[in-house]
Amino acid sequence: MRILVVEDDPDLSRQMKAALGGAGYAVDTAADGEEGHYLGDTEPYDAVVLDLGLPLLDGAGVLKRWRKSGKTMPVLILTARDGWSEKVAGFDAGADDYVTKPFRMEELLARLRALIRRAAGHATPALECGPVKLDTSTSRVEVNGQPVKLTAQEFKVLAYLMHHRGKVVSRTQLTEHIYEQDFDRDSNTIEVFVGRLRKKLGVDVIETVRGLGYRLSEPAGAPDGG
Ligand code: CA
Repeated sequence: MRILVVEDDPDLSRQMKAALGGAGYAVDTAADGEEGHYLGDTEPYDAVVLDLGLPLLDGAGVLKRWRKSGKTMPVLILTARDGWSEKVAGFDAGADDYVTKPFRMEELLARLRALIRRAAGHATPALECGPVKLDTSTSRVEVNGQPVKLTAQEFKVLAYLMHHRGKVVSRTQLTEHIYEQDFDRDSNTIEVFVGRLRKKLGVDVIETVRGLGYRLSEPAGAPDGG
């Protein structure tokens, strides 16, 4: 899952990048409204954290432009305390949620997790596919109730596939959603990650769809309890 943070306060921006990176997200940052708008317009993000008070173009203006051009990614706005009219303007511009400054990183992370899984159509934090379970709130992965240890990149690949369970996900799409903007991307490494994931999970849930990509689905012939 890849997140864009648009915030002009360099300390806060750094703190959010560190917290989100630590939670397993690929994170890009922008320090003004124009750069933020450009990134959100050209790169595929799973969620955006958008400060409202920004240089060059304010957050509400950025959001209005994205929504006008059909961008539907979930957007969480950062607002000032007592800024009720700011919140209203933010929601009217197309925001999905907000936190009020100053905030705890735990709250920001929890709200983002909820926005991302809701956008993918999941109502609960635990995502399941047959014997595989991924808890988005703890980042734990289990197969048949047994914990499985994954590297950060393996986790990113599995988390994206779990959020899009049952759908074909291309290697390009996976690459775009697990790496940050400046990362030297190589879609061949996706194959390597998928190979390792298959081995570690030990169950046949990642199907290769020839010429198209991968699809996460319950193992064929597995007992489904009815
Ligand atoms: Ca600001």
